[in-house]
Amino acid sequence: MVGEVIERNLEKIKERITSAALKAGRKPEEVKIIAATKTRTLEEMIEAAKRGIYAIGENRVQEAMQKRKDWPKDLEIPWHFIGTLQRNKARKAIDIFNCIQSVHSTNLADILQRLALEKGKILECMVEVNISGEESKQGVQPGGVEVLIEHMLDRCKNIKIIGLMGMAPLTDREDEIRKSFASLRTLRSKLEELLKIKLPELSMGMSGDFEYAIMEGSTMVRIGTALFGPRN
Ligand SMILES: *Cc1c(COP(=O)(O)O)cnc(C)c1O
Repeated sequence: MVGEVIERNLEKIKERITSAALKAGRKPEEVKIIAATKTRTLEEMIEAAKRGIYAIGENRVQEAMQKRKDWPKDLEIPWHFIGTLQRNKARKAIDIFNCIQSVHSTNLADILQRLALEKGKILECMVEVNISGEESKQGVQPGGVEVLIEHMLDRCKNIKIIGLMGMAPLTDREDEIRKSFASLRTLRSKLEELLKIKLPELSMGMSGDFEYAIMEGSTMVRIGTALFGPRN
């Protein structure tokens, strides 16, 4: 029952991804689906994972720990952290997550570096950028991203920066949403050129705006309600 609903929703999402990608002259397979699973049950998550999403995206370390404890051993899938990471949760986070999408300060980067070094691992991270300009939103200001990434390249050798993450402003105006996503893409190109690095991933787009995000270059859409239904 749960599985059937998720399957149907996932089919629809994939169709929408395909048509948005084709509209933009892109390949649909360039877009990975991250299931945003905050508040969802383990059953819902397992059903989604079995049906070919790219990764699980969790917002809270504590909640993710609980879920991972009971996660089926044979169901392998990357776990991405997409929420706000508190420093005192960083140690647990790097045990659970394959990628931290929400690095937003040199301070957090340094903590993650120290922990990753201690564990002898390379941690994939993304830099979260506040592209909406809204006070309430997380992320480093666009003007601060270069300094942060330079710092990480220089000092955080156990961190592999794979891209940028951002959220559009809360509005139904297509032009504003797209402008905001486009600004992340432009920033990515600028950084690649200035710093001579590759930032292959652009994590942008949620249930309400993922088609616009794909038209503006998204490679990872983080989808909750369109996949699982409304949250309580
Ligand atoms: C909840 C959440 C999403 C998904 O939101 P939906 O609108 O339910 O698709 C995406 N990204 C982040 C960071 C989230 O917290």
